[in-house]
Amino acid sequence: MKKGLCILGATGSIGVSTLDVAARHPDKYEVVALTANTNIETLYQQCVEHKPEYAVVVDEQKAKQFEKQIAASELSGLKVLQGSKALETVATLDNVGSVMAAIVGAAGLLPSLAAAKAGKDVLLANKEALVMSGDIFMQAVKESGANLLPIDSEHNAIFQCMPAGYHAGATAKQARRILLTASGGPFRETPVAELESVTPEQAVAHPKWDMGRKISVDSATMMNKGLELIEACLLFNMEPEQIQVVIHRQSIIHSMVDYVDGSVLAQMGNPDMRTPIAHAMAYPERFDSGVVPLDIFEVAHMDFEKPDLQRFPCLRLAQEAISAGGIMPTVLNAANEIAVDAFLNEKVRFTDIAVIIEKTMQQFSADSADTLEIVLAADQNARDTAQNIITELS
Ligand code: NAD
Ligand code: MG
Repeated sequence: MKKGLCILGATGSIGVSTLDVAARHPDKYEVVALTANTNIETLYQQCVEHKPEYAVVVDEQKAKQFEKQIAASELSGLKVLQGSKALETVATLDNVGSVMAAIVGAAGLLPSLAAAKAGKDVLLANKEALVMSGDIFMQAVKESGANLLPIDSEHNAIFQCMPAGYHAGATAKQARRILLTASGGPFRETPVAELESVTPEQAVAHPKWDMGRKISVDSATMMNKGLELIEACLLFNMEPEQIQVVIHRQSIIHSMVDYVDGSVLAQMGNPDMRTPIAHAMAYPERFDSGVVPLDIFEVAHMDFEKPDLQRFPCLRLAQEAISAGGIMPTVLNAANEIAVDAFLNEKVRFTDIAVIIEKTMQQFSADSADTLEIVLAADQNARDTAQNIITELS
């Protein structure tokens, strides 16, 4: 029987790669719902090609435009929904078995959580949703029995290196450490003094991965690795001290698990997100992803270095946030989203990103994050605080 697929954030980098994989397996997957924020041009093309039952456009104006376009087309059977609530509607449809959570940022939290509560297979790319809601998200997965499958390449690699039958959130007792790899981004070797004048275009030009703009800036500051450190603590039930970040600039090993007997298991492959996406879509089987086979002779050698926390203060801030616990990861994530947005809009310098986040964090204490209401309030307060700090800076 075919499995129904809902893609939250279909028009983004992960969404497009997911549709590419789904199209290779029409016997296994049926696209039921696609969602976009504003990019109705891409969404329209995707609807023509993949014939979903539902399309969601969050932005009101764009949704109206889209509805008109659909009404005048051959796609008149398509159900068009508008607004962020509709994301939850399509993520919990009866005929949806798998939800690809690929919205960027906090906007993805509620629909991803709804999918988890409904017991869907949750293919989680949207790391911000997990970082900000932490235990609440993991608890929802546990209670519903949802299958949580990591899409972030590192976490997918770690998952693949876990013992047979492992499920996210469980403790793998014999796994003593995770080696979380990082490419080091575009500024791994840029003189630190030059970092304050780098432009958004330079920051989003990642040497190894082709991704959305926000995560590309996160990779350049290494906040991406900081968020991933928090993500790994939650997904694999580990302490931050058990996770070592390793700069591996070839991006061939996507992370490793160190076992008590001295075995270190690694997952390797070309840096192409279709591998983790196909892994999660086929799980526990495997199927073709369209990724070219790894040429190990072309790789020839691999390097590993310790990260420099002076160069990458965002990584240190993330370590501090997870160690403090409570709402601090939520605050970190919210301040980062605001700071990155300001940088992309040329309101602040690249090096201001860490400053804004640190100053924001200083205004909060690690209160417990027991309920969704607390988390959403902390998220909003941290956004307001970060915005005020930006105003003071400029
Ligand atoms: P992207 O910017 O290319 O796409 C984002 C998607 O989210 C788009 O479809 C957009 O329409 C939707 N969106 C944005 N704001 C929204 C809002 N307010 N409401 C509803 N939808 C909204 O981003 P991406 O690179 O595909 O990344 C998506 C997620 O996957 C991020 O959380 C990122 O950290 C994670 N991720 C991405 C990669 C990658 O290679 N791109 C790798 C690992 C993890
Ligand atoms: Mg990653």
